[in-house]
Amino acid sequence: MEDDRNLDLGHVACVRCSKAALLQCPKCLELKLPRVNASFCSQGCFKESWNSHKAVHTALSQKQEGVTHGLQDPHADALARGWMYCLRKGQSRSSELPNFDWTGPLRAYPISPRRFVPDHIPRPEWASTGRPQQEMNSEWQNSVEIKSPAQIAKLREACRVGREVLDVAARAIKPGVTTDEIDRIVHEATIAAGGYPSPLNYHFFPKSCCTSVNEIICHGIPDARPLEEGDVVNVDVSVYLNGCHGDLNETFFVGKVDKASEDLVRSTYECLEKAIALVKPGVRYRDVGEVISRHASLNGLSVVKSYCGHGIGELFHCAPNIPHYARNKAVGVMKAGQVFTIEPMINSGVWRDRMWPDGWTATTADGKRSAQFEHTLLVTDTGVEVLTARLPTSPDVFPWLKDSSQTVV
Ligand SMILES: [Zn+2]
Ligand SMILES: [Zn+2]
Repeated sequence: MEDDRNLDLGHVACVRCSKAALLQCPKCLELKLPRVNASFCSQGCFKESWNSHKAVHTALSQKQEGVTHGLQDPHADALARGWMYCLRKGQSRSSELPNFDWTGPLRAYPISPRRFVPDHIPRPEWASTGRPQQEMNSEWQNSVEIKSPAQIAKLREACRVGREVLDVAARAIKPGVTTDEIDRIVHEATIAAGGYPSPLNYHFFPKSCCTSVNEIICHGIPDARPLEEGDVVNVDVSVYLNGCHGDLNETFFVGKVDKASEDLVRSTYECLEKAIALVKPGVRYRDVGEVISRHASLNGLSVVKSYCGHGIGELFHCAPNIPHYARNKAVGVMKAGQVFTIEPMINSGVWRDRMWPDGWTATTADGKRSAQFEHTLLVTDTGVEVLTARLPTSPDVFPWLKDSSQTVV
């Protein structure tokens, strides 16, 4: 396979919609630019994309001149394969690493082209539009839906598939594996189960899951960076199946990590366990943050305020909004039949977050590490059902779960 551009385009998605790409931008071909980011399903999508797409011609030509003049990008191989840096929320990409006052050691790496979702997979509206319009206009942004038994049965299945997909990703984590490879595994496992990876094109998010390494709090974009021994990486998986979303995440160790990182991840796991133990009808939503905050403080850790748990079901994100920090102003009490996530993000340094220029990646303000765990939960008559609970087949990746006589709640 001497020339990448002669390969079958069947596994590449149209830059604009998620259909299979059948044609390529002729200008890109003429300039011998990489085929990816230049693939379209139809003339219609090509024309609609022209204004944003044409910037690729100048950016990539300059890049290629740069290479011939000896300017080497550290990620030249990924760039040569047509991967680009995500520049900002939306679909703009560039071959230049954006300038930013990076808060820690981690940097953005180029991201691969959008992955293809086969036609037989039922998809949420943003798969083609990038905008969750029904979700934004829904009455369920203001009041909390009580799910019917039929809705609960569907959610249970979406959540179990989400769990199985996360478990497949967990088994793949080791030094040298890129987060893009984790994304590919999540994407393919989701589709194999008949689901659509909910994050893909949600508000134009470019990938099928979030991978948040070390100081990244959440919404990290899978990219060409290989995981390194001693990293921690959160993988956040959401699956759309049966018209419902299931959402969960876990933070994994890459090889052997230092004691402080192990304590951070374990304490974060415990924060979520303690919050789940509280869930039952009549409990105030604002008490979730009290329990999490108390356990984090006891361990010398801080709680992120910018990102919250959320209602979920036929909508990916809806009411209630559940802060994880103390003295929050969340309203309402839990009722049987309500479904929501709790997903504390716990930092080893300050609680404050900052946004990378890509408009997605949330990092700690001081560059110190952050961890997160998330479950989708159903309030039952007597307590809680963890819809995304670990299965007997889930991989044994958390040392504190190996001895079942030790329970953390
Ligand atoms: Zn999630
Ligand atoms: Zn979530």
